[in-house]
Amino acid sequence: MGYNIAIDGPAGAGKSTIAKQVAQKKGYIYVDTGAMYRGLAVHFLKNHIRPEDTEGIIRACEDASVSIGYENGLQQIYLNGENITGMLREEAVGDMASKSSPVPEVREKLLMLQRTLAREKDVVMDGRDIGTNILPEADVKVYLTASVETRAKRRYDELTAKGTDCDMEQITADIEERDHRDMTRETAPLRQAEDAVFIDSSNMTIEEVTEAILKLCR
Ligand code: C5P
Repeated sequence: MGYNIAIDGPAGAGKSTIAKQVAQKKGYIYVDTGAMYRGLAVHFLKNHIRPEDTEGIIRACEDASVSIGYENGLQQIYLNGENITGMLREEAVGDMASKSSPVPEVREKLLMLQRTLAREKDVVMDGRDIGTNILPEADVKVYLTASVETRAKRRYDELTAKGTDCDMEQITADIEERDHRDMTRETAPLRQAEDAVFIDSSNMTIEEVTEAILKLCR
């Protein structure tokens, strides 16, 4: 069994930034499970499936194979052998991932991949249900969150830095909607595991959060 650090929390809490830092400092691999859901979402979009079409999503799962690899230490996502990492951060992909992830068959499809990685390697894995469902025996569990305002501002800064036109109110509404969906779905909803350490990063720097997590590790 590898040494497992699980980081869960809502969209925009800074999970991936922090998880990458912790993984680098510890020499562990970083596993971004959101990217796996996004990988399946690309498959659904390619097949012109609508998010409401649960039956279509379930059928499409049968001919989708998601796997991960690493290039220069960066996680790559392969969909049926094709590297689709460059498409994952698109807005439409995130939206489809959030709307298709409540489907139990979608979650089932990725569960083994996530557990196998954690069994074989020392990992920092982030997502929504890692501490509660995927790795209930993880050595360290963190629930990382931040206020909606802080998360919206981070997203706004990220998009404007890329030159994308965006609207703060719309971003805030999207974040609230995504939180609601992730927290109220029936299968593996986002919630803090009983034995997870709660960290609110609203007024913390990346270094401070990373340090706080490293202190919890062996
Ligand atoms: O973290 P990220 O924004 O990349 O995740 C995309 C979507 O995938 C989330 O909105 C969430 O619905 C879903 N997800 C999930 N369980 C995880 C990771 C992500 O349901 N462990």
